[in-house]
Amino acid sequence: MGVFCCGLITGHAQEALRVNQDRLQGTLETLATYGKDASGQPNRVAFSDGDIQGRAYVAGLMKQAGLQVRTDAAGNLIGTRPGTVAGLKPLGLGSHIDMVPHGGNYDGCVGSLAAIEVARVLQENQVQTRHPLEFIIFSNEEGGVMGSRAMAGALKPEALQVVNSTGYSMGQGIQRLGGDTTRLQEAIRPKGSFAAFLELHIEQGGILDREGEDIGVVEGIVGLRWWDVTVKGMANHAGTTPMGLRQDALLAAARFIQAVNEEAKGMDGKQVATVGRIAAYPGAPNVIPGEVVLSLEIRDLSDAVIDALYERILERASAITQDSGTTFAFEALDTTGKPALTDPRIQQTIQEAADALGLSRRNMQSGAGHDAQDMALIAPVGMIFVPSNGGISHSPEEYTSREDMAHGADVLLHTLLLLDQSWD
Ligand SMILES: [Zn+2]
Repeated sequence: MGVFCCGLITGHAQEALRVNQDRLQGTLETLATYGKDASGQPNRVAFSDGDIQGRAYVAGLMKQAGLQVRTDAAGNLIGTRPGTVAGLKPLGLGSHIDMVPHGGNYDGCVGSLAAIEVARVLQENQVQTRHPLEFIIFSNEEGGVMGSRAMAGALKPEALQVVNSTGYSMGQGIQRLGGDTTRLQEAIRPKGSFAAFLELHIEQGGILDREGEDIGVVEGIVGLRWWDVTVKGMANHAGTTPMGLRQDALLAAARFIQAVNEEAKGMDGKQVATVGRIAAYPGAPNVIPGEVVLSLEIRDLSDAVIDALYERILERASAITQDSGTTFAFEALDTTGKPALTDPRIQQTIQEAADALGLSRRNMQSGAGHDAQDMALIAPVGMIFVPSNGGISHSPEEYTSREDMAHGADVLLHTLLLLDQSWD
């Protein structure tokens, strides 16, 4: 690490910087007091009064940290801090504080409050970074990564009509958050606007918790594709049709579900495939099912792997067709999410930061979507995971220990400082 041209703290002293674990825990607990339902359960859904109050609390924290705070046209809360080198693009960091209905107090909040804790550490140690910094609390992450998508210029106009559990549409919600749907263009940050973007988040798969590791270095956020699969057989009398003469669509569907699981497990790699919904028709105990509609979802970091797994599943469906007298039809749905890879150089910087802090780490992929996914459209991104107890998320049972949160925030701080010094 070098010495800053204009800063008041040397590189060597920077290495000793640590976040304040108790202060981070304290802000998390205070934020959790906003947005509870009548029974005291957390329910800080985007656009709700609790969301607006929580954002006001967070904006106050940003101001205390010396940040210049504004709300962009898409309702993103942004705190900025100047850099010392003219012409450098900002380094961005942040996450979200909204939650799914009856969600938990860690998903999004840990990364948001850790980013603000980083700002406070920089401020109290009078660290001046070369790059300007932007601390971003994205609006309505859980309702379709609205804020980050708008920032990346990828929010479709029809999305503004989507209503969430508060009863407000996204368009109304943006106005409630202090944004302006008539000026959404102004929220767009063109590709290359950021030097890099970093997001800290709880790991929602439970791997770090199970393996007893401190830090997940995220290689990317998996892409996702959905299909509706219709299996057609022949509905017939369940009492009079002999077993050998049946064209049972539900039986074929059951074999198909098994095959999906086997094929996903049979390939090397981390791909996942799921049948999560099924309906049998006509749906009576005394009628052989003539038609079944089920869902198929495949996720992976590589489009090519998704294609390959889908081909194998098609082959298995074809084999089932031949000996069951049924047909399978696959309809691809327009709900695809492209895989988003994190920047390998940032991955390496996160590893270096974790190693220097003496924290254990492993590379992993994110099976859930995050704001960083859309930010990857306009900036090199890095993601840091911390353990989540039992891998639980989207539930009031979410829990990450204060030590694990502080470890993640320290890695966020030092990744930011390393990028600031080594990148232009
Ligand atoms: Zn989240």
